[in-house]
Amino acid sequence: MTDTTLPFSRRRFLQGTLAVAGGAAFPAFAARPSHLRNGEILPSPDFSLLRETAPHLIGIRPHRRGGVRLALEEQPIETSSGKKYLVHNYGHGGGGITLSWGCASIVTEMVEELLVRLRQARETPSIAVLGTGVIGLTVATELRRKWPTLPLSIYARDLDVRSTTSFLAGGQFEPSGVIHEYRSEEKKRLLALYLRRSRDRIVEIQNSGQRTLFGVAERKNYTLDHGIKAFDEFTPHDVVPVHRRGTLPFEKLTTVGREYSNWLMNPTLLLPKLTADLVKASVQFKQRLFESRKDVMSLPENIIINCTGYGAKKLFGDENLVAQRGHLVILRKTLPKQFYFFSGGCANRVISYVFCRQDDIVVGGTVQSGNESVTPDEEDALIFQRILANGRELFAGHPAACRT
Ligand SMILES: Cc1cc2nc3c(=O)[nH]c(=O)nc-3n(C[C@H](O)[C@H](O)[C@H](O)COP(=O)(O)OP(=O)(O)OC[C@H]3O[C@@H](n4cnc5c(N)ncnc54)[C@H](O)[C@@H]3O)c2cc1C
Repeated sequence: MTDTTLPFSRRRFLQGTLAVAGGAAFPAFAARPSHLRNGEILPSPDFSLLRETAPHLIGIRPHRRGGVRLALEEQPIETSSGKKYLVHNYGHGGGGITLSWGCASIVTEMVEELLVRLRQARETPSIAVLGTGVIGLTVATELRRKWPTLPLSIYARDLDVRSTTSFLAGGQFEPSGVIHEYRSEEKKRLLALYLRRSRDRIVEIQNSGQRTLFGVAERKNYTLDHGIKAFDEFTPHDVVPVHRRGTLPFEKLTTVGREYSNWLMNPTLLLPKLTADLVKASVQFKQRLFESRKDVMSLPENIIINCTGYGAKKLFGDENLVAQRGHLVILRKTLPKQFYFFSGGCANRVISYVFCRQDDIVVGGTVQSGNESVTPDEEDALIFQRILANGRELFAGHPAACRT
C-alpha cells in the first residue's frame, strides 16, 4: 500500500506528526490559530526607561486566610455614649482594587439594615469609615451616593492617599491571590457575587462619561497559552468572558497565547478622584491613629466601618491576616499603543506581569510572605532587577527563560 492509498485521515495524521517532529508548533493539518489582533503589532515596553519618580515600589497585600472579612458584628457594642455597630471590610489580599466596589455595595446593604434598627431605637445615625485605601474610599462613596446628607466621616492614620497600599497597586481587574480562599462551591458563589457587583459599578462609571477621571479603562489582557484560574474558574464569564486563543500580538513574543477582556482601575487616578468627590460632598476627613479596638469604639459615630486593610491584624487581633509583599517597577509609557496587559506569568510559571496604564507601565512579579517591610534593602534591589529581566525575556520571545 503506497502513501497515496492510505485512508485520508491517517495520511493527514502522519503528515502532521512529521511536521511536529520537524519543529513546527502545530501538526500540519491543524489550522494555526489566527493572530489575536489581525496582524497589528503592539509595541513592547522599554524595560530600560524607568519612571522618573519612585520607580521601585514595595507593598503589603492584606491577604486573609478564609477570605475577605465582610461582616457586621452581630452584637452591638455598649459604650458610655450608647450602642455602636461595627462592620468589617478587610483582607482583600491581591484583589482589593477588583473587589472594592462589590464589597462596598454589600456594606451599603448592611448599613441600610442598621439605619432601620437605629431609627426604631430613636437613635440618630452617624457613620465612621476607617481607612482611606480603596476599600474605605469606595465604601464612603457608595454610602454618600445613597444617603447624601447622612453624617459621614473618614478616619485614617495618614490622610494622604499616596501612603496607602491601594495607591501603589497595579489596578488590574482580577481576583488574583484570593481565589485559594474561595474553593468551595459556596465560597465561589460569594466571590462571584463580589465580582459581579464590582463589574456593575465599573460599567456604570464607564458609561458615565467620567471614566478617564476615575482612571477606568478597558484593557485586553494577554497571557501565554495556559490556564489562568482566577479568570477561567473563579470569575463568572459574564464578568470576564472566556478567552480567545491565537498568536500573541507582539514583535518578538509571538507564541500562541490568550486574550481576555479586562479593566484597568488605576489607583493613582481613582483614589484622588474619590477623595475629591467625597470632600465636595461634605464628608469629613480626620487624621487619627487607632491603637486598639477600645480606641475605635470611643468614636462618636454609632456605625463604624473598619476598612483598615492589614492594619486590622493589630487593631482587631486578626491572626488570619498574612502580609504578602509585592515588588513593582514602574516604567515610562513611550508609545500610545502600549495599552494592554500581559499577565499570568512565564512558561515556567514564574510570576511576571506588565500592566500598561494611562501614563506609565507597571512591571511586577513577587508574592513574598513573612516580611512586612516596605523599605527596599539590598535583596530587594536584586528582586527589582530580576523583575525587569523577566519582563525583558518574555517580550524578547523567551517565555521559558524567567528566573525565580
Ligand atoms: C504590588 C501590589 C500590586 C497589586 N495589584 C493589584 C491589582 O492589580 N489589582 C487588584 O485588585 N489589587 C491589587 N493589589 C491589592 C490591593 O492593593 C489591596 O488589596 C488593597 O489595596 C487593599 O486595600 P485596603 O483599603 O484594604 O488597604 P490599604 O490601602 O492598606 O488602606 C488601609 C487604610 O487603613 C488605614 N489604617 C490602617 N491601620 C490603621 C490604624 N491603626 N489607625 C488608623 N488608620 C489605619 C491606613 O492608613 C489606610 O488609609 C496589589 C497589591 C500589591 C502590594
